[in-house]
Amino acid sequence: MTLRVRFAPSPTGRLHVGNARTALINMLFARKTGAKFLLRIDDTDLARSTADNEAAIERDLAWLGCVWDEKESQSARFPLYRQAAEKLREAGLLYPCFETEEELERRRRIALSRGRPPVYDRAALRLSPAERAEFEAEGRAPHWRFKLSGTVRVFEDLIRGRQAIDTAALSDPVLIRADGTFLYTLPSVVDDAELAVSHIIRGEDHVTNSGVQIEIFEALGAAIPAMAHTPLLADIEGGKLSKRLGSLSIEDLRDEGIEPIALCSLLAKIGTSDPVEPRPDLGTLAAEFDFSKIGRAPARFDEDELLLVNARLLHGLDYAAVRAGLAQAGADLGAEFWHAVRPNLELLRDAADWAVIVSEPLAPVISDPEFCAQATALLPAEPWGPESWRSFTDAVKTQTGAKGKALFLPLRLALTSREHGPDMGALFPLIGRARAVARLMGEVG
Ligand code: GLU
Repeated sequence: MTLRVRFAPSPTGRLHVGNARTALINMLFARKTGAKFLLRIDDTDLARSTADNEAAIERDLAWLGCVWDEKESQSARFPLYRQAAEKLREAGLLYPCFETEEELERRRRIALSRGRPPVYDRAALRLSPAERAEFEAEGRAPHWRFKLSGTVRVFEDLIRGRQAIDTAALSDPVLIRADGTFLYTLPSVVDDAELAVSHIIRGEDHVTNSGVQIEIFEALGAAIPAMAHTPLLADIEGGKLSKRLGSLSIEDLRDEGIEPIALCSLLAKIGTSDPVEPRPDLGTLAAEFDFSKIGRAPARFDEDELLLVNARLLHGLDYAAVRAGLAQAGADLGAEFWHAVRPNLELLRDAADWAVIVSEPLAPVISDPEFCAQATALLPAEPWGPESWRSFTDAVKTQTGAKGKALFLPLRLALTSREHGPDMGALFPLIGRARAVARLMGEVG
């Protein structure tokens, strides 16, 4: 049997960290098991779905490396949903309701005030033919509800274990609105059945939906896929992902300069029993993927941790892996440069600052003109290598008696105009003698 998973975004907005994680988990499962990965665009809401959002979602998924094998759009599949609705109607499981939103709201409030759950009372099922005819004559178009069994539905969740959903505690879900448009519930089941999805992997906000959808699968005579519901993302305090983080788009993180594999490493590992650390590639993440590692507690997403993972990733990357990225940032000054600045980077683009410092004219910061002038005279002859900085600073130390911070800080400030930065031993040969002379003399160089 071919395994198939799907990621089903609605193109009503951009891809955010939460749904990107769902996409990633589906993709990792697919890579690990050889399943097909289907991208299903849930664009039944024609008014709110845009081609621009769809293109952006695809761009973001491709950037993350969540490449799909197949793609379907719900907007091209309405005839299938109509057929399924017809089948449910024939089975007496889809019934017309004429209540207006206001009527429903009033009944919900009354139920609540009497301490009863605000579950739809199925009044529409008790309408006489005459009452129905009257509504129709008034020009009221019905919306259509699915008749739940009112029993407890049990399924084995691959993450949460045994789940029991009591459909008696739920309102019969509206599948079709009065204007004839479909809500999410039915098209999703029809597609999962028709496209032979073997595993539904999605956020745990869909657990109750799953109880409902299992009944629709059955009503349509379709096999019920395996299900896995992942805990949602939370912020570091464990609260619901805050507004700022909740709206954190993949686009924003890309623009910030985060490496896709750093983001994937974090999203794949938070909330699991594995340590959160950068992994070299998606193949490694896929090989390590297992539902049993995913915990029940919310996965905590912390932007600072993302930066840390990004930094640790960069610190371990060799020149070949970053060459293109450095070139793009205007910072490809060769392998020695990369190895010099790598330990100090949080983001690859920060290398550009150091590229400017070693290769372009710079106004130095002279904290002690006399000391710097003395040091200038002690600069060794070129060529400079890994030992040049040590012999230079040893000479300055002997000559001036300065040591520790008093020795190193004025030199670093003059040569780089910064208080902190990469190891001077590695930077010094990259700066070169001519610039070093100028800078120590307080000249732009
Ligand atoms: N479009 C739905 C959502 O984004 C898909 C849910 C599902 O995976 O079934 O919530």
